Amino acid sequence: MKNIFGITYNDLEAYFLSNNDKSFRATQLYDFLYKKRVFDLTKMNNIPNTTKEKLNTDFDFSFIKIIKKQEDTDVKKYLFELTDGNRIESVLMYHNYGISLCVSSQVGCNMGCKFCESGRLKKVRNLETYEIIEQLLLIEADLNIRITHIVVMGIGEPFDNYDNVMNFIRIVTSNKGIDLGSRHITVSTCGVIPGIIKFMHDFDQVNLAISLHAPNDTIRNKIMPISKAYPLNKLMKTIKEYIKLTNRRVTFEYIMLDDINDSLECAKELAKLLKGMNCYVNLIPYNETENIQFKRSKKVQILTFYDILKKNGIAVTIRREFGGNVDAACGQLRAKSN
Ligand code: SAH
Repeated sequence: MKNIFGITYNDLEAYFLSNNDKSFRATQLYDFLYKKRVFDLTKMNNIPNTTKEKLNTDFDFSFIKIIKKQEDTDVKKYLFELTDGNRIESVLMYHNYGISLCVSSQVGCNMGCKFCESGRLKKVRNLETYEIIEQLLLIEADLNIRITHIVVMGIGEPFDNYDNVMNFIRIVTSNKGIDLGSRHITVSTCGVIPGIIKFMHDFDQVNLAISLHAPNDTIRNKIMPISKAYPLNKLMKTIKEYIKLTNRRVTFEYIMLDDINDSLECAKELAKLLKGMNCYVNLIPYNETENIQFKRSKKVQILTFYDILKKNGIAVTIRREFGGNVDAACGQLRAKSN
């Protein structure tokens, strides 16, 4: 049985029509679920009983479970248990511009990036759409807040679970429901080219972030195995097509790993690679984890790297750090969850 929180508005409308019901039932149901946040069918007063009974037999209304919450200034990390016992995490961050939620898209991850804690557990399975939506619904209910921004940057590679993640985006952006602006959503990929190509045609207003982490294949191959399947020249070519088609600025994430990718030569090579592109670089001080040997670049190295990019006309920021104290920072998810 399908969970109701995985059904897009269009599919719900089609469902009602195919059951000889009114298409506006979809509006009513979306209004209860996503605007009023009434999840209990018996409390949906203007929906007729026959419709409710049918919904009850056709859909599952159950939720995943919050099993742990860790808090630090401006950040909260949630551990969820899925109905099959698997566990995932989400991170909520308070910014000056709003509240953003970092959602997971898979249980484990198969991309094998050498520096990332999340990928030490191989992919167990994709998350279903409802399991991504429910991360948001449960956290909003727990804190009585409304999330303003979403980043698909938690555990998993979103383009390795394309359809479910895209349905998640369709549901959160539907103006019949949560109605989040596409430009408030960012999908981050380690560089899965077929996913980027589909994405630019399906969602040209949703932000795209690329985990680049190296200015050439020699270094990238060592830390990101995906780069063997999708080498840098092909990746850059695809991203240029993306920019041309969508006219949107792309974010490149670049984690600063001591003695691996943080040399001045790397900075120059990166500047050359990105010259003239509508993009910006987000330098991420590496978050060390106890199971992985990589070290964070020294502060002065990060600042020098930043200066070189800046002098070469590349828009660049150093990522504000969140969540290190509760292992909620990038790449630390799942580290101590069990
Ligand atoms: N699979 C997607 C999204 C999840 S990772 C992707 O690769 O983009 C989100 C970001 O955190 C990626 O840029 C990833 O490379 C980065 N990251 C992974 N481990 C990290 C760590 N220990 N410190 C800082 N960033 C890390």
